[in-house]
Amino acid sequence: MGQRKRRLQAFKAEHPICCYCAKAPTETIDHLPNRDCFVGRAFPEGFEFPACSTCNSKSRQAEQIVAIYLALLARDGFPPEERNLTEKAIALKNNFPQLIPDLNLSANQKRRAFEYHDIGYLESQTFAESPVIGINPDVWFAFDFVNLKLLSALYYLHMEAPLPHSHFVALRCVPTTKKNSFDEISPMVNALPNFKRGQRRNTNLGTQFEYKWARTGSNDKQGFAYVCVLRQCMLLYGAAIEEVTNPDMEMTSAGEIWAEINQKLPVWLDAISS
Ligand SMILES: [Zn+2]
Repeated sequence: MGQRKRRLQAFKAEHPICCYCAKAPTETIDHLPNRDCFVGRAFPEGFEFPACSTCNSKSRQAEQIVAIYLALLARDGFPPEERNLTEKAIALKNNFPQLIPDLNLSANQKRRAFEYHDIGYLESQTFAESPVIGINPDVWFAFDFVNLKLLSALYYLHMEAPLPHSHFVALRCVPTTKKNSFDEISPMVNALPNFKRGQRRNTNLGTQFEYKWARTGSNDKQGFAYVCVLRQCMLLYGAAIEEVTNPDMEMTSAGEIWAEINQKLPVWLDAISS
């Protein structure tokens, strides 16, 4: 048996169940965030998760799109020549032409974007001149999908069991506008005591991947929450709780969200590749 195969056997023995569907036996090792999200594909150590082949492969396109957009929007201090920008732009043009950002928004569309996102604007600049681009909603599906995977993966890492599909979850992705992304949501960040930054021996990964997290809940009711920053340009939040005690909280079960993603996936794949 080759070394690689032996390693997979040992991994499967230690992590027998897919951490995403929480049902099928482990067949592969899934890197999350995936390697393409990092400069030079140098991924952080310790973020390997058990996945069945189906769960591993069905998010391939979503993860590619997320990686491309992270490279294009990154503000983590890596110079453009190290960010594989050209390579990512070509990949976007060739593989997902529908998802090229719209650089020709009208002044009216830009004004609506400022209002919708409640962003302050410079008095000296007209809406027409402001640097706003249009992003296809299908890009957000990719981020939501990856965030659902991230919730499952980080839950597995810190709770040491697959996220039960009966747990109620909340998920959100937002682009950051502040220099230090965590400043954007400091009250939430302050409530989460544990900090982790993705690192790699002999390679400086900088602040490409960091998150704060906590175990939540009371008595024997399990809960988990995190706020993650990717490439200092995108915030991903997630929370999972066993039981909803506050009736004002609108939460859906993990199983329902997976079912929704699985249902939309073929339609989405069709839309992004045509
Ligand atoms: Zn699975």
